[in-house]
Amino acid sequence: MYDIIIIGAGPAGLSAAIYGIRAGKSVLVLEGKTYGGQIVNTPEVENYPGIKKMSGFEFATELYQQAKDLGAQIKMEKVLTVEKADGRSEYDLQAAEIEGQENSHIIVTTSKGIYEAGAVIFATGAKNRLLGLPREKEMTGAGISYCATCDGMFYRNKSVAVNGGGSTALEDALFLSNYCKEVYLIHRRDTFRGEQKLVEALKKRENVKFILNSVITGLIGEETLTGVQIKEKNGEEKVLMIDGLFIAIGQEPETALAKELVAVDGKGYIQAGEDCKTTTQGIFVAGDCRTKAIRQLTTAASDGAVAALMAVEYLDQKEAKQ
Ligand code: NAP
Repeated sequence: MYDIIIIGAGPAGLSAAIYGIRAGKSVLVLEGKTYGGQIVNTPEVENYPGIKKMSGFEFATELYQQAKDLGAQIKMEKVLTVEKADGRSEYDLQAAEIEGQENSHIIVTTSKGIYEAGAVIFATGAKNRLLGLPREKEMTGAGISYCATCDGMFYRNKSVAVNGGGSTALEDALFLSNYCKEVYLIHRRDTFRGEQKLVEALKKRENVKFILNSVITGLIGEETLTGVQIKEKNGEEKVLMIDGLFIAIGQEPETALAKELVAVDGKGYIQAGEDCKTTTQGIFVAGDCRTKAIRQLTTAASDGAVAALMAVEYLDQKEAKQ
């Protein structure tokens, strides 16, 4: 039995682990993929206070090592289910809480075992949003990528396009412009959601071309991608021949595991305020999978700290009642 189980070893989950451990609790972090979350795909972190410049992978590795050295157990196991030990639903539990009944502990089942904890923190993050075009999944790895830092090198001296208008798309285009012959930045509007500093940097690159007010309507190619069909806002359609397409149109929360246990909003984000408390006692949420306005490395780390300290408070209060 652990005090706290954290699901997800990204910046939010690992920050929560650090705070949980330092508050004297036993902490298990479970991660189904690899540690670090989405930050590992960021070429350079330049906006984390106290760190001038560091690669996302290096940042994630330092954070992972820090949590481990402090005493967090981190297991690379995919979580399959999360349930209250007494099997009650969120709504039964809310009723029980109103009646002042004590909540049971939580059971987490993974691909390798069953673990129990007094509190659980969901730090499951978000996954890449798909364009939803026919053959998009089939062509992933065959001309389509969602990670410029992972796959950019395959397109050295080739023509690529990046789709999106947020900071990820802008950073991807900048990164790719270092290696690729041509980089087309395709965005559905004429202004960017991402950082202006990145837009200015892109404008200075001779091999970067902006295709604005345009959406991708089709993928061209047999076994691998050879081009895309584009539709402009004015209805005009054209074909752009490229060797690679990097899709960076935002994320969707990874909250399928939590949906039976806590309330989520219309987009699937786990509902919680700045205190990171979900609608179910003993279950907390941190990072990109929480309902909030700003999703950044700093806010993920901040959530991790808050969720862990709230979990600690919950466990201490529960113990004091017993
Ligand atoms: P994002 O900010 O949500 O931007 C997604 C972009 O994709 C938007 O420009 C959006 O267009 C476009 N888009 C969404 N759905 C689309 C569709 N179906 N077809 C075409 N275009 C579509 O996502 P992100 O860039 O991945 O960033 C996620 C979060 O991480 C943000 O909070 C961002 O600030 C943060 N981030 C920060 C940094 C940094 O600080 N260095 C780096 C990367 C990411 P519209 O603009 O028209 O909605």
